[in-house]
Amino acid sequence: MFDSHCHPTDTDDAWDVVQQAYRAGVALLCCGYNADANEQVRRLRARWCTLPIALGLHPWFASEAIEPVLELIEHERPTAIGEVGLDLSGEVDERALARQREVLEAQLDLAARLELPVTAHSRRAAPALLEVARNHSRVRGALHAYGGSFEQLVPFLRLGWFVGVGGAVTRPNARRVRRCASRVPLDRVLLETDSPAIGMHGLESNQVRPVHVRRVAESLAELRGVEVESLVAQTDSNARELFGRDVTELGDLDSWTTP
Ligand SMILES: [Zn+2]
Repeated sequence: MFDSHCHPTDTDDAWDVVQQAYRAGVALLCCGYNADANEQVRRLRARWCTLPIALGLHPWFASEAIEPVLELIEHERPTAIGEVGLDLSGEVDERALARQREVLEAQLDLAARLELPVTAHSRRAAPALLEVARNHSRVRGALHAYGGSFEQLVPFLRLGWFVGVGGAVTRPNARRVRRCASRVPLDRVLLETDSPAIGMHGLESNQVRPVHVRRVAESLAELRGVEVESLVAQTDSNARELFGRDVTELGDLDSWTTP
């Protein structure tokens, strides 16, 4: 099983969280989002060099310098670039939006050049994000923890993008998310927790860990009327298609460098 978007470095002990996941059979993509988080993610992989990681600058941190992030990506060659994206949910004036776009475009330019996929955050920004994605049609990505409509998702699917289904799908009252998750083609679905940022049915966000991706799988399988194991096999295969064929490997836990 694969948690395609999570932030173990936002927990008290990222190392324990990652080990707990891998020992439970859950491989994961550990995502950075700003200079501090990227550095923590980089250090985590230094302990275990096969850990899939994403490095990038999230739209909430678009005021930070982008150049050092691009240099870090070039140097570290992560599995993916992210977390990138656009967020128009708060008070975003024209200047702030222009800066978010500039940062996003720089990262997608680099993704095209290095042939890396992206993991993207989009909030009230699907049309603008689509425009940037279309201008970078060689770059494929995942819309992580997607909360929009199925209609707005379709053009991304046509571009070859994937969609991350997260903890919201476990909530019986999350109608919009569940409606969209019930329609998306299963060969484009990735499972994720975005832990510890998003809660699940019966779990506060700060209690969620990558191992809980199984609950996402169970909820989605029930919603789609498929067996959990076949859904997991399909979404693992999707993750390998987007992020590379080794990404779901659980690897040799004994080869981890002890902290
Ligand atoms: Zn995230």
